[in-house]
Amino acid sequence: MGISIVIPCFNEEDSIPIFFREVEKISSQIDEEIDYIFVDDGSIDSTLNVLKKLNSKQKRVSYISFSRNFGKEAALYAGLKQAQGEYVAVMDADLQDPPELLIQMKSILDNNKRIDCVGSYRVNRKGEPLIRSLFAKLFYKIINKISHLDVVDGARDFRLMRRQMLDAILELSEYNRFSKGIFAWVGFKTEYLKYNNVERVVGNTSWSFWSLFKYSLEGIINFSDAPLAVSFVLGLLVCIISFFLMFFIVIRTLIMGNPTSGWTSIMTIILFLGGLQLLSIGIMGKYIGKIFLETKKRPIYVVKEQSNDSF
Ligand code: UDP
Ligand code: MG
Repeated sequence: MGISIVIPCFNEEDSIPIFFREVEKISSQIDEEIDYIFVDDGSIDSTLNVLKKLNSKQKRVSYISFSRNFGKEAALYAGLKQAQGEYVAVMDADLQDPPELLIQMKSILDNNKRIDCVGSYRVNRKGEPLIRSLFAKLFYKIINKISHLDVVDGARDFRLMRRQMLDAILELSEYNRFSKGIFAWVGFKTEYLKYNNVERVVGNTSWSFWSLFKYSLEGIINFSDAPLAVSFVLGLLVCIISFFLMFFIVIRTLIMGNPTSGWTSIMTIILFLGGLQLLSIGIMGKYIGKIFLETKKRPIYVVKEQSNDSF
């Protein structure tokens, strides 16, 4: 019973106490008891000590600590697996997910039994570099077009869902995890609340532009096989064009003889075809890489320590 909040933490020693205080503040306005599952994702600061201290003072706080940094997706999965509540929330430790929204989320779930999950999305990206916002927009356009999923632009992982949806999410135990896609894939009725972007309380984001770029490529590859079709379509197109070109060259030779020219066109064609082949192999390689990791069936994370009361 109650609400379990899962919080992935990577080097969040300063945010955690503030986060806990802020959520506790609003907890009286929610009629369910709240318990916290902090997942220390191999932090190199004293996040784990902060969590231990909190756990010794508060029975409703439990923690899991990884043996190294496995990434936010792995931390989320670990936390969700531990969650016992009838409702489960996912929140960041840096207070970029406003705790007040939890009250609204819970009341939406209470008032409408047909809704299984209340998510959140940011209406603006204040404080974020322009180029990053542009690429983010482009990413959501592409993934929605080619994956048959409905991923909301600006949607955060911050959400409150019913047990049934959580159980469905836990069924997807794949190694290559992309939570935004997984949340959308399991279906269920999700309503979205919007809010203005909040900058993190302390510390810096752990995402560089490059890591976000790689993350979005992962998302597309994990949930769509459309890129594979790209090489097929390009190959087909080139075949058709070269067929006409061949026809043209043969006819021209028959009529006008064979002057030794055409170095430029040959080079252009060779370079173009070479590029196309490498691109196709690259795309295939990406998928084979995924299959490779998936078939190894490695655990998604390794736990080093955890609070005793979480079972
Ligand atoms: N996080 C994590 N493992 C990582 C990176 C991030 O558990 O490898 C956590 C982090 O502590 C935070 C949340 O994921 O609670 C979101 O991270 P961050 O604030 O850096 O990302 P942003 O809000 O900028 O998307
Ligand atoms: Mg953040």
